[in-house]
Amino acid sequence: TERIRVGIVGYGNLGRGVETSIGLNPDLELVGVFSRRDPVTVQTAAASTQVFAIAALADFTDKIDVLILCGGSKSDLPEQTPELAARFTVVDSFDTHAKVPEHFAAVDAAAASAGTVAVISTGWDPGLFSLNRLFGEAILPQGNTYTFWGRGLSQGHSDALRRIPGVAGAVQYTLPSESAIERVRAGENPALTTREQHDRECFVVLEDGADADAIREAIVTMPDYFEPYDTTVHFITAEELARDHAGMPHGGFVIRSGETSEGVNQTIEYRLALDSNPEFTSSVLVAYARAAARLAATGATGAFTPFDIAPGLLSPKTPAQLRAELL
Ligand code: NAP
Repeated sequence: TERIRVGIVGYGNLGRGVETSIGLNPDLELVGVFSRRDPVTVQTAAASTQVFAIAALADFTDKIDVLILCGGSKSDLPEQTPELAARFTVVDSFDTHAKVPEHFAAVDAAAASAGTVAVISTGWDPGLFSLNRLFGEAILPQGNTYTFWGRGLSQGHSDALRRIPGVAGAVQYTLPSESAIERVRAGENPALTTREQHDRECFVVLEDGADADAIREAIVTMPDYFEPYDTTVHFITAEELARDHAGMPHGGFVIRSGETSEGVNQTIEYRLALDSNPEFTSSVLVAYARAAARLAATGATGAFTPFDIAPGLLSPKTPAQLRAELL
């Protein structure tokens, strides 16, 4: 069978992750990377990967089956996904939860009139976590759903630390609160706010002469960011920051806890523990790119989310193989 021909749009963390992931999937073939930057300035992980200017996509309409969009959710994808869905089958990992409805509407209008398939908001949250929230609610209608994030690097909170005078460098991890997880696992069905479910851990490098106690106080009392949480601050050296905190770990849990009859508790738990958030998100994007290309080949059109994609389409195996091997 023919390989599915893939283009990568945007080469940041996700673009690099998708390039690597395609190498792990023999039924997919990487046509090239398409960037808004001058192609000669974009250094790809593999020397064999071709880089083109994004305008060159006009020459690739018959040479690409699906584009994996790796731009940022804030300002890239709201423009790029509808624009490119008008010309190609596409997948993205749009993750601004509150704006998913308007993103879907814009992409659906473009894909429906062009006759393409566009799968939005794949990845893990939104994406795999969303599917697990749906499974939980559908199967245990009487119950509560809990999403815990972490241990994971939070870009926004790390930036907030770096803006404090006297801080030379810093990272912040969001941690699921162990006590909250234990209560949920025990079937207590507690009412918990997002804040009660998470703790914050900071690793801070001080500038020469900075006052550690004053900076710790500025951190733990910072409104919204740290004040409402159980926050721990560790002071480390610049060498330790570079050596131990350069990765982008993330993950978390989706837990549904409910009763199917009086006193009969049922718990569903889904966990991700990720050394690299972008490499994992990219792996999810690649599986959905396979599904999108197959869906397009059946004549489907319009926008889809992970809720609309049959799981079998994600697998390189045939339906018969899946029935025999995994069912
Ligand atoms: P990123 O590294 O900032 O890359 C975003 C874009 O910025 C790239 O596509 C690239 O476009 C441009 N860029 C990258 N490096 C650059 C550089 N050195 N100079 C100039 N431009 C550069 O973002 P990312 O980490 O890949 O994440 C992308 C999005 O994924 C995030 O915004 C987030 O919303 C989403 N995400 C979703 C999930 C999920 O679970 N759904 C999880 C993680 C992330 P050009 O090549 O065109 O310049």
